[in-house]
Amino acid sequence: MTKVLYPGSFDPLHNGHLDIIEVAATHFDEVVVATVRNPQKTGGLFELDERQAMIGESVAHLGNVSVTSFSSLTVDLARELGCDFIVKGLRVVADFESELMMARMNKAVSGLDTLFIPAGATNSFLASNLLREIAKFGGDVSHMVPEPVAKRLAEKYGS
Ligand code: ADP
Repeated sequence: MTKVLYPGSFDPLHNGHLDIIEVAATHFDEVVVATVRNPQKTGGLFELDERQAMIGESVAHLGNVSVTSFSSLTVDLARELGCDFIVKGLRVVADFESELMMARMNKAVSGLDTLFIPAGATNSFLASNLLREIAKFGGDVSHMVPEPVAKRLAEKYGS
């Protein structure tokens, strides 16, 4: 049985993230999506528990996906949960550079490997920070996020 951890800020979850989760759920026996409060990312929108709830509702159709949140090292969580790999999505070259560094560091400190899944062609422009900006100014991003996220954004901004 192969279990993988998909960590990220997911503030908020969008269709690009969901695509990666669905691909991972197809290829691995168990997928744990873990939301983290990233101290390097400013301008956050949703609290961890809200993000976790939205992800849970958005992956309800996938029987082998569960959701958690954490504030420790990703590799420690992966070990704690018994995950065999970390899974990350790649959109553009810039992602590759930072994700490769992180993957090598995680491997060096824990021996854990990271597997990369390429972003779907129609989702590679999606980024949570851009969606947050557009939503804050009243733009419609409802077609770029799962329905539970669109609902929360509408409640927050009335769009
Ligand atoms: P962001 O805030 O940029 O959306 P996250 O920290 O929430 O980033 O991303 C978590 C993981 O999802 C990372 O591996 C990131 O590369 C990946 N990811 C982000 N956006 C996309 C996308 N549009 N398609 C595929 N993977 C993505």
